[in-house]
Amino acid sequence: MRLSKLASEILESPTLALNEEARLLRERGEAVINLGIGEPKNKTPINAILASAAKLTSGEVKYVPADGMPSLKKAVIRYTEENYDRLVAPENVLITNGAKQSLFNIIYSILNPQDEVIVLAPYWVSYPEIIKMCMGRPVIVTPEDGTFTPRFEEIERAVTSYTRAIIVNSPNNPSGVIYPPELIEKLVDFCERKGIYLICDDIYHKLTFDDNVAVPAYRFTRKDVEDSHLIVVNGVAKLYGMTGFRVGWVVAPRELVRVMTNVTAQTTSGVSPVSQAAAEGALNGLQSVVEALCLQIQNNRDVLLQEIKSFNGIRLIEPQGTFYALPDIRAFNGNSVEVSRFLLKKAMVVTVPGREFGMEGHIRISFSGSVKDVTEGIARIKWALDPTSPNEIYIGDKKMIRDWM
Ligand code: PMP
Repeated sequence: MRLSKLASEILESPTLALNEEARLLRERGEAVINLGIGEPKNKTPINAILASAAKLTSGEVKYVPADGMPSLKKAVIRYTEENYDRLVAPENVLITNGAKQSLFNIIYSILNPQDEVIVLAPYWVSYPEIIKMCMGRPVIVTPEDGTFTPRFEEIERAVTSYTRAIIVNSPNNPSGVIYPPELIEKLVDFCERKGIYLICDDIYHKLTFDDNVAVPAYRFTRKDVEDSHLIVVNGVAKLYGMTGFRVGWVVAPRELVRVMTNVTAQTTSGVSPVSQAAAEGALNGLQSVVEALCLQIQNNRDVLLQEIKSFNGIRLIEPQGTFYALPDIRAFNGNSVEVSRFLLKKAMVVTVPGREFGMEGHIRISFSGSVKDVTEGIARIKWALDPTSPNEIYIGDKKMIRDWM
């Protein structure tokens, strides 16, 4: 079959592929625990359900403006004012099919072929692929000191005359770290001086633990949204656990939003009004749902930290936000793909190899599910990898004996 070179080079989404593998195993009756996917288990917030149901029962489900329904934009404008202290106009907002399409539209709208975008490792798997789809070149900056936080000088060194943007995702998927405000401040200043876009993927900005906060990049510029080089991406997927509604948004200068709207208009024509109504309901509804979700996830994180304490050989930088942890598993095997495969085969636990996030020697563990899944999942991983742990375990109703070390 003749396929385009560009499309054939795009990698499969590893998280979605592993999810599918787990589903097939579960269908065969295996007691699989999925610590692979990042998806809270909560029910859709009631205000979102009511708002989308009202839209549906009105029977008026037609085309809506490609850049988003004015009423949802209004809710996003209020959200921006409350959370970022920025007053923006409807022309600064674009509603998209999830934050993923926001990122695609941004990259598509700012890159010429061979232009570069700086991506900070560990990074969300889709960034390099989206950049490649837009004929650009991802330039990966990996912290040299073995942490998950790059130093400003390392980023600065990677900038060339082709650099068009730097993507910052803090709190970070897959490590859960929050970048220090000093780093964000330096990046804002640098990007403004150089005329480079700073794309802030803020999808996890409210999912933070203890006293940690992710300081918004807007804090460090006096410039109006119109003159600034900041682009902020957000959405309802993680904030309200509304992954299936596929609603995200971008806040950016008008000219960029105008171009991105054309990209949307010629590809998807925008987001279903039923989903947009749901997002609007969630944004305008009770925000205690976000706090409740955050507390539940923080509890899961605490359980994970507790379980990992007694895990010989594993090293972990404590997640400060998101629902991911990225433990270093090099004491067992430096090849993360092998480790993830092994864990699925022997322990029936789905994890994602760190290699996919540009951080070989680590595996990503999602703690977005139930406490039971986190506790049992870590116990199984410990059983499979740590020779000092008891060598018998129940997986479902099967008693398993470790016989490989
Ligand atoms: N950015 C990051 C860092 C993510 O982890 C995700 C989802 N896994 C997205 C963007 C995409 O979110 P959405 O589901 O709204 O497309």
